[in-house]
Amino acid sequence: MSVRTAGSGTPLDTLADFPAIPSGWAYLDTAATAQKPQVVVDAIARAYGETYATVHRGVYQRSAEMTLAYEAARARIARFIGARSPDECVFVRGATEGINLVAACWAATQLKAGDRIMLSMLEHHSNIVPWQMAAERVGAAIDVVPLTHDGRIDLDAMKAMLTDQHRFVALTHVSNVLGSILDVQRAVALAHGVGAKILIDGCQAVPRLPVNAAALGCDFYVFSGHKLYGPTGIGVLWGRAELLDAMPPWQGGGSMIDKVSWQRTTYAPPPGRFEAGTPHIVGALGLHAAIDYVDAIGLEAIHAHETTLVTQARDALGSLNSVRLLGPDDSAGIVSFAVEGVHPHDVATILDEGQVAIRAGHHCAQPLMEALGVEATARASFGVYNGPADVDALVTGVERVTRIFG
Ligand code: PMP
Repeated sequence: MSVRTAGSGTPLDTLADFPAIPSGWAYLDTAATAQKPQVVVDAIARAYGETYATVHRGVYQRSAEMTLAYEAARARIARFIGARSPDECVFVRGATEGINLVAACWAATQLKAGDRIMLSMLEHHSNIVPWQMAAERVGAAIDVVPLTHDGRIDLDAMKAMLTDQHRFVALTHVSNVLGSILDVQRAVALAHGVGAKILIDGCQAVPRLPVNAAALGCDFYVFSGHKLYGPTGIGVLWGRAELLDAMPPWQGGGSMIDKVSWQRTTYAPPPGRFEAGTPHIVGALGLHAAIDYVDAIGLEAIHAHETTLVTQARDALGSLNSVRLLGPDDSAGIVSFAVEGVHPHDVATILDEGQVAIRAGHHCAQPLMEALGVEATARASFGVYNGPADVDALVTGVERVTRIFG
């Protein structure tokens, strides 16, 4: 790992750690997926190339060692997000699967007709559709918290909307479109005030802010490994032990059982109960390496670094007449914007010609696009490997867009 400084707003000197970022390429799509540091690539290569075996089943030495490594990854994750026990951390494919798991195993079994679920206008489709499916199954209704004028979840409005019919709340910690940061503790207090359980979608928060899920007070917290500089196909559902304990299994198969017979099958306790089948062993090891990497830099330093880049980008883009900035000034690592009269896809295509990779589209948040009155946005999102030169390249590219479309 290269040397880095952790002072507030100081550039992190990490670019050399990322083999897939060529010199001169401004990768500004970390909110979609983060590039991987060499230590993660090495951990994956080592796991497949040197130490590979299955987990939990083999009695031979190699399998026992792989099981230890797999469970060490779980323990590392537990420490990273402040879980009380590794058993509160369920390996899933990603945030999408974690939310679907809670929707299927908690909501569909605990909710009844007439109950209400509360979501917000900021949510990613993966924190909307599973709740629509669960609500439809049981006859529950969904309410949507609106946004403040600067694009935050309006917690005053939420307070006014909550009733004791609300049994579940699901909100994003950091918006993948606007970067808005939720005051999770206040949201939790509001939800718990009416006796509702609350899930926090931490996909964009975990790579950008220090997170202690238990201290935040929520009931479930989900995130994806690939946005945290780890592999795709692995993510985490954290849930309070007593809630996971009370939840029925989701998928049936190997590993999730206690005893199987034709008469009666009993299930393993969490987290195994929710991990049917051979897991993504190498993904877990890769995520372990990613967490070690991120923790060595420090999430305070990462947040300070990304905040500096956001400020630089918002100041420079905001000074262009053709640009409309979306979201709050203190967004976490993500800047969405519109260039007057130019479709975001054209903005992204022209930027790509100048070696700047941004995302353009609805960002899996179509209801938010409707609320913002746009079809799509252009979105630049930062990671540990970005620096001021990447923001300069972004701004130069947007100026070129403005010239081309005149
Ligand atoms: N929630 C948020 C806020 C996200 O940004 C994303 C990914 N764009 C997801 C959920 C879904 O994550 P995944 O596709 O990794 O399951």
